Amino acid sequence: MTADLANELRNAGFRGEILREEPLAGHTTWRIGGPAEALATPVDREDLALAVRFAAEGGRPWRVLGNGSNLLVRDGGVRGIVVRPRRALAEVRVDRCRIEAGAGAALPAVASLAAERGLAGLEFAAGIPGTIGGAVVTNAGWHEHEIAAVVESVEFLEPGGSVRRIPSGECGFGYRRSALRGLPGIVLGAALVLRQDDPAAVRERLGAFAASRRGSQPTDFPSCGSVFRNPPGDFAGRLIDRAGLKGLRVGDIEVSRRHANFLVNLGRGSARDVLALVEIVEREVRDRFGVELVREFELW
Ligand SMILES: Cc1cc2nc3c(=O)[nH]c(=O)nc-3n(C[C@H](O)[C@H](O)[C@H](O)COP(=O)(O)OP(=O)(O)OC[C@H]3O[C@@H](n4cnc5c(N)ncnc54)[C@H](O)[C@@H]3O)c2cc1C
Repeated sequence: MTADLANELRNAGFRGEILREEPLAGHTTWRIGGPAEALATPVDREDLALAVRFAAEGGRPWRVLGNGSNLLVRDGGVRGIVVRPRRALAEVRVDRCRIEAGAGAALPAVASLAAERGLAGLEFAAGIPGTIGGAVVTNAGWHEHEIAAVVESVEFLEPGGSVRRIPSGECGFGYRRSALRGLPGIVLGAALVLRQDDPAAVRERLGAFAASRRGSQPTDFPSCGSVFRNPPGDFAGRLIDRAGLKGLRVGDIEVSRRHANFLVNLGRGSARDVLALVEIVEREVRDRFGVELVREFELW
């Protein structure tokens, strides 16, 4: 029962905002998704830990929402608590070549701050609209660059309340994945170690990454970025384009005419439309090229 869950969380001492039956369409970059039974935004780390402990101890379903830029939320929404740690974990500290970034900080903002300080290694992140938490969990990257290359360690909150530092080597980073995704708990932040460089050169590279993205990706309609992982030695977008699927549409979801690995929301697209189009694309690419595309977004 919606009101009960929100009330129980409040009665347990949660101080932050709790929105009942909040449509997640407003919290995802695809602008799609039904309601969260309770969307909880903690005010600080203690509040965050309380929400997670409350959910875990009561055996209630719970999830973590970053910027919702790698998610497809079903039209029926999700039960349980969706914790949004953005505000509670927004702090970023720079100490010479080292950046301690809270999981709620915006990845592009951290990349810009690094550039201002002449710190190299995060330029690829210009235009990846995730949080540090989401970026670490998904090992966000662009071509041969990925965040794993600059992560020294990750600070991780376990549901019971203990906090541990996980060294980069134990995070299980791979192409757009990490072992952190399967762990119960929340990434509180990451220590990133960058390289000192000329600030003007770093800024220039940051601008070049942003420009190359603007030149190749659709930025005028909501999306989740790339829908499929690139298969080994190839590009999902090239295969979808070669299959003649650009412009194919289900409801208000369209295979972008600009970049075939983007399924854009033309306005009133639903999760059902996205999944129907995804299945068509998968089938066509399998039938024509014998390649099984793997989905990059997470389905809630
Ligand atoms: C226009 C566009 C372009 C994009 N380009 C790229 C690109 O070039 N490269 C790329 O890799 N991605 C790209 N993406 C996808 C997306 O931005 C990244 O995957 C990003 O890292 C997701 O971060 P998020 O905060 O939005 O995570 P969300 O989508 O909110 O969540 C993703 C997963 O991370 C988990 N999570 C989030 N925060 C935490 C936390 N603090 N602790 C534990 N788990 C957490 C969630 O529970 C979920 O499992 C693009 C997306 C868009 C819309």
